[in-house]
Amino acid sequence: MAGRAGDADRCGELPAADLDDLRQAGLLGLLVPRRFGGHGGGFAQWANAARVLAEASGSTALALNMHTSVLGALAGTPDELARAMGAPESYFSARDRMLTQAAGGSFIAVAMSERGAGSRLSALRTSYRREGDGYRITGLKSFCSGASHADVYFVAARAAEDHSEGEQPDEDHLAAAAGPATRVSHFLVPAGNGVTVEPNWDTLGMRGTGSHDLRLDVWVPADALVGGLEGLSLLIAQIMPQWLVASYAAVYAGVGRATFNAGIEHARGRTAAGIPKGLVGLPAVRARFGHADVALAALDVVIDECARRVEADPGSAATNRWVWRAKLLAGQTAQDVAASVIEACGTTVTRRGHPLERLYRDARCGSLQPATTDVCADWLGLAALGGDPDADANVARW
Ligand SMILES: Cc1cc2nc3c(=O)[nH]c(=O)nc-3n(C[C@H](O)[C@H](O)[C@H](O)COP(=O)(O)OP(=O)(O)OC[C@H]3O[C@@H](n4cnc5c(N)ncnc54)[C@H](O)[C@@H]3O)c2cc1C
Repeated sequence: MAGRAGDADRCGELPAADLDDLRQAGLLGLLVPRRFGGHGGGFAQWANAARVLAEASGSTALALNMHTSVLGALAGTPDELARAMGAPESYFSARDRMLTQAAGGSFIAVAMSERGAGSRLSALRTSYRREGDGYRITGLKSFCSGASHADVYFVAARAAEDHSEGEQPDEDHLAAAAGPATRVSHFLVPAGNGVTVEPNWDTLGMRGTGSHDLRLDVWVPADALVGGLEGLSLLIAQIMPQWLVASYAAVYAGVGRATFNAGIEHARGRTAAGIPKGLVGLPAVRARFGHADVALAALDVVIDECARRVEADPGSAATNRWVWRAKLLAGQTAQDVAASVIEACGTTVTRRGHPLERLYRDARCGSLQPATTDVCADWLGLAALGGDPDADANVARW
């Protein structure tokens, strides 16, 4: 994967060979329970795997993170809870089929974000309505990592009657829609007719994710509705933030570590005219690596603590604080380490094609992914000040 990362960055596409390797290694089934052919892993196993994979290719680890988050949420919802929420029996057979397929190598991409709405579920424009025995979903998604290779898309959409199709929701509408009445639902939509990838991904970093737009005008059967119930998306985002917020953290910790390693390799090999012992002989350079070492170690500790709590006490207020802390710290640390390592190594490493040039751009994306660093900080600040960080924000969290 590491050997393919440069090309993937240049082309702006997820390498099919990376996906094949992940499949062969059984990693598409990492979070699938053993009874469905997977490895039965949980959040902690993902946090470990993501860090290792992202050291080789942040982009591929990020695309796998999307797949894994869906499986983590599906496999991690206890049957009794789903039944108590009203999930019909048909949901369980559809879910088990999906888990079995994923363990067998089926790749799931997440189609949540949209231009304008970002990842705010309450502001989505993609809509669905009842049609025959199923639903028709129409809309345009953006930033869909691994879109070209997906077998299934995890699509978020709002009930069409929440606003007229194609209509831009106004602020009042969005404020009302952000309330409990909003019906935002998720669907598992197979690739094929009615689902078109628009290959237009051309951004600063994590280019190897191939996060293209996705156009939808597709009919799906009723059992494609996740949970078998409409309107669960906002609830799930609140009760399982680990899969929406913290699962990225380990990916960016891996990117930060890769940046550090590449910087060390460069600094150790670099002789510079007039500088005895090259870069290693410069105290300022050494201090930058010292600071980066501490920052990355601290990030690992926070991710491990987050994972430990997610496994031991998922969904509690205390656990969720670690979820949001991990995301904030990962986004900030990866980009701070990358900026400092570049400063230590010099302009040479900013040439196109040098791994550090790519890693610097990749590391910049962590704090931009939802929840953004600013949103995490607001959430944590509100919690610290005694508010309800999910309910008391003046803009809907999701
Ligand atoms: C490499 C990469 C891969 C991605 N892959 C996927 C994918 O596979 N599937 C997918 O669905 N999406 C994906 N995304 C999209 C991502 O999840 C975000 O939705 C997207 O980046 C949001 O874009 P935006 O430009 O609208 O910014 P926003 O996130 O809307 O941010 C704009 C500004 O608004 C602020 N803001 C945002 N939300 C709130 C809020 N609730 N309260 C207060 N302030 C807020 C932000 O802090 C920021 O200052 C990916 C993004 C990247 C960078």
